[in-house]
Amino acid sequence: MAKKIGVLVELDYCVGCSACQLACQDYYQLPVTETYMRCFLGKPDVVDGRHEMFMSPYAYRLDKCANCLEKEEGNAPCAAICISKALHVGELEEMKQLADQTDGHLALYR
Ligand code: SF4
Ligand code: SF4
Repeated sequence: MAKKIGVLVELDYCVGCSACQLACQDYYQLPVTETYMRCFLGKPDVVDGRHEMFMSPYAYRLDKCANCLEKEEGNAPCAAICISKALHVGELEEMKQLADQTDGHLALYR
């Protein structure tokens, strides 16, 4: 059975630069209109009395993520380029353990 993949985004550290999305498009040589990871603007929220906005990458082709991990020996191109080290891609159980140790949340899994 294929291993379950998790993508963890530490929202406290992601600066919304979209480099991960571009790295994914570049890795798979996708046209600009197509991507396996998209950065989107989350809805505004009130945190400690202040309005806050956040950007977050969303990976929705985890079969492609599994392919990246296998080909690149565990180094996902999107996570490798992240200047904030806010993005992690790996086996679901590993990502769950990491989520317990960080301020982030598990964004997506299968
Ligand atoms: S996860 Fe990293 S590379 Fe992606 S938008 Fe956030 S800071 Fe940029
Ligand atoms: S792991 Fe690969 S397919 Fe998944 S979002 Fe990152 S670069 Fe794209």
